[in-house]
This record gives sequence, C-alpha cells and structure tokens, in this order.
Amino acid sequence: MDIRSVLYDATQDLEQMGFATPRLDAEVLLSRCMKTDRLRFYAHPEETLTEEELQRFRNWVERRRGGEPVAYIIGQKEFWSLPFKVNNNVLIPRPETEMLVEAIIRTYSPGDFIQLMILEIGTGSGAVSVALASELNNVRIVATDISREALSVAVDNARENGVQRQISFRRGSFFEPVSEKFDIIVSNPPYISEEAFEHLPPGVREFEPRGALLAGTDGTAFHREIIMQGAPYLKEGGRLFIEMGEGQKDRVIEIFKESNLYDDIIFIRDYAGAERAFSARRREDIIRG
Ligand code: SAM
Ligand code: GLN
Repeated sequence: MDIRSVLYDATQDLEQMGFATPRLDAEVLLSRCMKTDRLRFYAHPEETLTEEELQRFRNWVERRRGGEPVAYIIGQKEFWSLPFKVNNNVLIPRPETEMLVEAIIRTYSPGDFIQLMILEIGTGSGAVSVALASELNNVRIVATDISREALSVAVDNARENGVQRQISFRRGSFFEPVSEKFDIIVSNPPYISEEAFEHLPPGVREFEPRGALLAGTDGTAFHREIIMQGAPYLKEGGRLFIEMGEGQKDRVIEIFKESNLYDDIIFIRDYAGAERAFSARRREDIIRG
C-alpha cells in the first residue's frame, strides 16, 4: 500500500464517522506512525509503508474511529510551539490556555524582577509552567497537581524542554504543598459544571481525566477555593491569573466581592473573543505576615 491510498482510505473512514478534520487527523497519525514529516506525503505519495507501519496505522485509525483524541494516540501535543508528551492522565493542553501565558509575559517585563516567583495549581502536562519557564529565564516556579500520574508526565515535559531546573513539582491539593509567597498564582483549574459535562464532545468526556475537568455544580468551585485561600500565598501586590469557562464571569465577580481580598480585577479574552481568564491583585492593605 502506498501513502496516497492509505491516506485516502483513512480519510474516507474518519469522514464517515463525522469527525471535523479527517484528512488532517489521518496525516498526523500517519506522519507519527512513519516518524516523518507530513510534507513528505506530498513530495512522495507513491512511497509504500512497511507491513509494521501499516499495521500500526490501521490500529491507530481504529482508535481514532472510537473517538480517542489524536493527541493521546500519538502521545504528543504542541503548546506554545513546544512539544508536550501527553497520556490519558493529563488534560490535552488547549490553545486558549496559551492566553494565560501571554497575559503573564505581557504584565512582567524581565527587568522588573530579580527573580519572579510563580505558583501553578493543577499543572497537568506541565504546559503552562514549562511555557513560562521557557520564556522567562529569571523565573522560579512551583507547579502542583493532585495527580501523581499527571506530575510524572509534567516532570518529563520539563526535562524534555530543558527547563527542569526552574520548576519544582509538588503533589497535593490546592495550597497544601506550599508555604512560600509568590508574585503570581496561575491556574487552569477544572471548570466544567456537572451539567455541562454531559454536553462535552465524546472525545473529551470519555477520554480525558474527569478530575481535570469536573468542578462542582456551577463549575466555579476551584475558582472559589483559589480566590479565598490564595491571598496569603501572594506577596503584596502579587497577582492571580486564572482561566475560567464561558459564562462564569458573574459568579467570579461575586466570589471576589465576598472575599474582599483583591483589587484591579481584569477579565482577559481568548482568541475567539470569549472572556476566558481573569487577573486580580492582592490588596496591599489587608493581611499581614
Ligand atoms: N494546567 C494544565 C493545562 O492547562 O493544560 C492542566 C489543567 S486541568 C484543567 C486541571 C488540573 O488540576 C488537572 O491536572 C488535575 O489533576 C488538577 N487538579 C484537580 N484537583 C486538584 C486539586 N485539588 N489540587 C491541585 N490540582 C488539582
Ligand atoms: N477548556 C476545556 C474544555 O472545554 C476545559 C478545561 C478546564 O476545565 N479547565 O474541554
């Protein structure tokens, strides 16, 4: 079988299943399977696959047909133009989360700090912390997760991307594993409500870890916890940068009002124009020590 016909068949197959990007999926699976670049398919569509490659590819297409995300099948996803290893213990990093990284980089110019201290809650694959460490060389990051399996993926990703010396990984819930104070607390916490979970695409609902997605009845349980408990872990003037779901803004504003611990609350839009994250500054006139 040559590349042209293998790709054609797989694309037809995936198209029938109603997937949004059948040709792209087939190309990504095949390029990873043959350990080559997709461009080669266009330069040499007549090349044939070895029996082993063909077997593996057919097996992968079958998994894709069953709804498994391409990133889990090939074990990799790009975030912030960096390669991340992923498996079903971690959420596949989403493009909209890059905006958290961007907002932090925009706010802090390199000359402002001798060493910027960042805490990430719920690091998953390590995407946010690794991207930040790769951009800001004067940064020290503590990245936590409740999942031991997720942390093991994050540690690999930090090492693969050469930033392991800037990040220390700790296991625990919320602020349990930390005692220091930070300039920034960043998090993309679980924020899917129980009701919204039922309406997620099957690829997400059936394959991604529930503990990375589900967040109580209205999806803001983690935001509440971080806003309410986080202030003592921020230096004076330190800031939160937290991702949220569409439609959660009003709830988040209520939590901030109730807490009375922050000012300068800003909502940040993602590339699609949705309010997707917020930032707030720890008030300087409260809590001592
Ligand atoms: N930061 C990654 C990203 O943006 O791709 C992963 C985000 S995922 C939505 C949320 C992560 O929070 C998961 O890895 C999950 O294991 C972790 N998590 C869930 N409950 C937690 C808790 N109580 N304390 C710390 N992390 C938690
Ligand atoms: N953006 C993800 C989704 O819609 C949810 C991520 C999260 O809960 N933090 O699937």
